[in-house]
Amino acid sequence: MQVAIIGTGYVGLTTGVALAYLGHRVVGLDVDAAKVNRLQRGEIPIYEPHLAELLQLARKNLTFTTDYATAIAPAQVVFIAVGTPALPDGNPDLTYVRQAAQGVGWHLGQNFTVIVNKSTVPIGSGNWVETLIDEALKTRAHNAPPFAVASNPEFLREGSALHDTLYPDRVVLGTQAPQALELLHTLYQPILEQNFTPPSFLPRPAGLVAVPLITADLASAELIKYAANAFLALKISFINEMAQLAERVGADVTQIARGIGLDQRIGSQFLQAGIGWGGSCFGKDTAALIATARDYGLGMGIVQASRLVNAQQRQWVVDKLLQTLKILKGRRIGLLGLAFKPHTDDLRDAPALEIAQQLVERGVGVRVHDPVALPRAQREWQKLEIQYYDNVKTLAQDCDGLVLVTDWPEYRDVAWEELAPLMRHALLVDGRNFLDRERLRQAGFTYLGLGR
Ligand code: NAD
Repeated sequence: MQVAIIGTGYVGLTTGVALAYLGHRVVGLDVDAAKVNRLQRGEIPIYEPHLAELLQLARKNLTFTTDYATAIAPAQVVFIAVGTPALPDGNPDLTYVRQAAQGVGWHLGQNFTVIVNKSTVPIGSGNWVETLIDEALKTRAHNAPPFAVASNPEFLREGSALHDTLYPDRVVLGTQAPQALELLHTLYQPILEQNFTPPSFLPRPAGLVAVPLITADLASAELIKYAANAFLALKISFINEMAQLAERVGADVTQIARGIGLDQRIGSQFLQAGIGWGGSCFGKDTAALIATARDYGLGMGIVQASRLVNAQQRQWVVDKLLQTLKILKGRRIGLLGLAFKPHTDDLRDAPALEIAQQLVERGVGVRVHDPVALPRAQREWQKLEIQYYDNVKTLAQDCDGLVLVTDWPEYRDVAWEELAPLMRHALLVDGRNFLDRERLRQAGFTYLGLGR
């Protein structure tokens, strides 16, 4: 099938590369000319495992452009995958979605096209996008071509985006138009029926033979996405709140997580207590859900509480440093990990930024390290007076404490025994309860986890 993807960020690029690999002809469209230039040269502008390799395999089916006419006119399916960042009042900024929808309306070809909202957009956005396209079509001289709008929320996780796209837990399609559903069903058929040859570097999970398809009306599909993210966010906040109590009563939250997680009704994922969630989605999507509910007179108490707990978790790390070192002014603290989670360079709403800011405000000399996100942090955090290190040992020299912020696997392999003697205080706050605390203690560290 002929596909256009508007927005070549984490979601659009991953979707485009995956669909091209599956044999569809895909055009990636972006307003960022520098990004498009890089993609045309075969370079990947973000850090996402295996994306570069799969792009090479899919190249014959994949082109990139900044030109709406080139991408939209021949497309049978158009994905809108632009950003929807949060506004100060919690509502998402729909400027880019509006521009994309208008661009579609001005350039739609004469055959039936389905326009798919893959961006996370508030309830009612499907109808709104339809109206925008309708209005744009009216400005054109010839007869308006047939089209339908559908919702296809995205559930990929940065760091395993391609895996999640090729082997998703489910595909959700929201539309009332049978023709749109038929087209999308054909598009996703290789994924739904798992009848493609997996790339060698992304093997199919054992036992996966088919992926469930959820068909829904537009509003339900839109709400599924928000409900999923809110639930995951509150699951993390729940265990984090338990961590706060566990620490006070002398219990170990990692044991509690195991004890409840093996209950199949609860499940063990997203029960790792720590600094809390960050990233481009949970913060903005919970805010958007609350903002939508407010319009309908609902308070969304549970979702609000999960945001409150999350904010407390970031503060908790700073409090621990304060309680242990007593005076923070003039100290040197090293942060290990900047990205909001491992295997990505995404710094949106990264807890590391807030922790660094708080420490700088208290007069701490902040040093930071990350296996992949350093260059990005240097570009995006220019205003923040911190020092960047590409070597953990050099960073630790003369430090008063280290905070493990991101659970990058490479931090497990640090030669902690060599680090402790170099530091002014061999203190480590493990913000993810990730490291082997016995090993750290044997290496001479004062080890502090969260909730244990
Ligand atoms: P992103 O910021 O990485 O990418 C957005 C891209 O859209 C950018 O390259 C930008 O230049 C481009 N763009 C903006 N306006 C445009 C326009 N008018 N025409 C063409 N291109 C335009 O964003 P993302 O992380 O890929 O997220 C996209 C959407 O998917 C958001 O709504 C997000 O909530 C949702 N989502 C994201 C994730 C994730 O993990 N990142 C997961 C699920 C859903």
